[in-house]
Amino acid sequence: MSNVIKCLIIGSGPAGYTSAIYTSRANLSPVLYEGIEPGGQLTTTTEVENFPGYPESVTGVEMMEDMKKQAQRFGADIRFGIVTAVDLSERPFKVTIDDSKTLLTESVIIATGATAKYLGLESEQKFRGMGVSACATCDGFFYRKKDVAVVGGGDTACEEASYLASICNKVYLIVRKDFLRASQAMQDRVLANPKIEVLFQHNSKEVLGDDGGVTGMLLTNEKSEEVKINIDGLFLAIGHTPNTQLFKDVITLDPEGYIITEAGTSKTNIEGVFAAGDVQDPHYRQAITAAGSGCIAALDCERFLLNNL
Ligand code: NDP
Repeated sequence: MSNVIKCLIIGSGPAGYTSAIYTSRANLSPVLYEGIEPGGQLTTTTEVENFPGYPESVTGVEMMEDMKKQAQRFGADIRFGIVTAVDLSERPFKVTIDDSKTLLTESVIIATGATAKYLGLESEQKFRGMGVSACATCDGFFYRKKDVAVVGGGDTACEEASYLASICNKVYLIVRKDFLRASQAMQDRVLANPKIEVLFQHNSKEVLGDDGGVTGMLLTNEKSEEVKINIDGLFLAIGHTPNTQLFKDVITLDPEGYIITEAGTSKTNIEGVFAAGDVQDPHYRQAITAAGSGCIAALDCERFLLNNL
């Protein structure tokens, strides 16, 4: 069938583009749909200093543009559009784009990522990228010797608070309950760190700032009293939502909604459907790990098509 493509990639973060680079170089003529947020989560961060190969750092937007150009150089067909439905019951798989077009494909690489949860405050959105971040590993370094706050009480929040404490002057950990949900070891580490002050039973009311970015935060304590802290950076660590709504009745997901892949591979429970990047990774969530898993998915896909076309 001439109108069936060999490989469809859904998503345009580091995982999607890396899959596109590898599959296009393998002559699989991939088609990639960029999705709702072309370039993915990295386009919402500022500088990226920890992706190997950029000794002078690079902005998230520039890096994603570079990855896109690199994929296009080898013939990847990158399209603006959103996958709105999938029928993975038989091959070729049937995929609907923008609720209107249908595309048939022999294989699919899902790289739809995850979305960091935000508190939903207007002031938080106003200072996004100007002191408000959802990734301490990405942005913590810019707050060297400064005061920052982390919101959340899970493993991510504790890990980020510990990491920030190694760089910053002081770290407030803002926890809405009177206990931490993180593993005991993480809790112990946080509670023993003199640079971290845990504010239990505090809720975030408003992010304060000026033209230069974040300057503080207004909280309410358990007695509903207002508490103001002075900070230069605010890190949200209240969880992520994997972008798997399209696949929930079709592909095996874990209880949090992340795609489950066969250990050491990118294979999902459906033959010919692969997953890469944050959509299948609740732990590492880095651009480099996403890119690495995009490469794995492309190689798995290439091998699958070699045996199944
Ligand atoms: P979690 O869902 O475990 O924790 C989210 C935290 O954010 C909770 O403390 C929750 O509070 C709080 N929270 C949620 N919404 C709000 C809100 N609106 N305002 C204030 N606080 C809020 O997410 P994590 O990202 O921490 O972890 C996800 C998974 O990844 C977990 O299974 C975790 O164990 C795992 N992980 C493991 C690591 C490791 O092993 N090294 C490192 C990082 C993550 P509340 O408790 O009140 O609901």
